[in-house]
Formats: sequence, structure tokens, C-alpha cells
Amino acid sequence: MHDKYKAPTFKLVLVGDSGTGKTTFVKRHLAGEFKKKYIAALDTNVHPLVFTTSDGSITFNVWDSASKGQLGSLPNEYYMNAQCGIIMFDVTTRLTYKNVSNWYNDLVHLCGVIPIVLCGNKSDIRERMVRPKSISFHRKKSLQYFEVSAKSNYNFEKPFLCLARKLCGNPRLEFVGATALAPPEIQVDAELMQRHQEELDRAAQFSLEED
Ligand code: GDP
Repeated sequence: MHDKYKAPTFKLVLVGDSGTGKTTFVKRHLAGEFKKKYIAALDTNVHPLVFTTSDGSITFNVWDSASKGQLGSLPNEYYMNAQCGIIMFDVTTRLTYKNVSNWYNDLVHLCGVIPIVLCGNKSDIRERMVRPKSISFHRKKSLQYFEVSAKSNYNFEKPFLCLARKLCGNPRLEFVGATALAPPEIQVDAELMQRHQEELDRAAQFSLEED
């Protein structure tokens, strides 16, 4: 008799300034939204986000604080035993990018060395205040950075795939099949997204040449 296969499950803490779109983002995953659990003592929703990978299923229990407090307001228990994290800022609000370093320091201070991904949300908005070329925090800390747009589902899976590869120790892991997401509320301009990506790539190249 074999033990029933138990899909690996990881606690993921979602942090970033209030209003950056964390709740909008995590709610895109339909099954996770349906099965979420509320922890009253921490005023936090935990969304179990399941993805099917080339190595079987993986679950991220994504912790999303419901309290819309500002920096430093998350209790230590929120971070306890977290195995990975997403730091989110809003590309239309400079302060939310400036505060990324504080969220990063909190995460590292309370969780130690865990895989962390940086996400710039609301990339659908043309009038952005944080240009792709000025986003450099991730390079200083060797994090992956993704532009996302929660409202359009743009790049929704990218941060999770990146974390799954690190946590499973398999850089070639892929997600298979489509994850059921809430229908996009808006469409992104593919050309604009391409331009942003090229600007990011150029900035990365430039910083490599500078090193
Ligand atoms: P939280 O406080 O970080 O959880 O942020 P919310 O999820 O409550 O979102 C704050 C506001 O930003 C809401 O009005 C959302 O509709 C809006 N928002 C979230 N994500 C996006 C996005 O990708 N694009 C745009 N244009 N607006 C967004």
C-alpha cells in the first residue's frame, strides 16, 4: 500500500502598501477565492491557490491581510513560518515602490532567506509613475521582477511559477493546463506591454555591463 500522494503546500505571504492591488490579484484565482479561509485574529484571508505542474500539483496558501493598514502594521504572526513571499507595488504610485525596501526588510527579518518575487501591478495603466527602467530593487537583491495587471490577468501565473521552481528545486518546472481565473475586467495593450518588457530588458542589460 502506498501513502496517498500529498501535493506540496507552501505558505506565501503577500505584502505591499495598501491599495497596490493585492486583494484584487489573489482573488483572480477562482478556486482559491472560493475556498479561502478567514483568520479573524489576524484579519487575514488565506487563499489556497492550486496549480498543476509538470511534476504534479502545488498549493500556495496565500496570506492576504484584510486590514488596509500602512507599512509595518502587519503582526509578526502574519509572517510566521512563511516559505515564500510576493512584494507588490503599484506602478502608478511612486511611494509604493519606495516602500518596497521596507517590506523586503520586514520579510527577511521575520522569515529569513525565502524565495521572494517583486511585482509591479496596474501595468495596464498608461500614465505610470514608475518607469520600467527605474525599477532596480530586484537586481540589488537578486529577486525576479514581473509586471502584472491584476484586472486583466496579465502575467498572473508568472510569480507563482517562479516561486514553484525555486521551492521545488526544479528550474524547468512548468505549469500545465489552464488555471481557472476570473474573466479579465480590462484588456492590456499588447504593444505597450512589449515596450515595457523591452525597457526592462535593456535596463537589465545595462546594469550587467556596468558591473
Ligand atoms: P490592496 O489594498 O493592495 O489589497 O488593493 P486592492 O486589491 O483593494 O486594490 C486597490 C484598487 O486598485 C482597487 O480600486 C482596484 O480595483 C484597483 N486595482 C487593482 N489591481 C488593478 C490593476 O491591475 N489595474 C488597475 N487599473 N486597477 C487595479
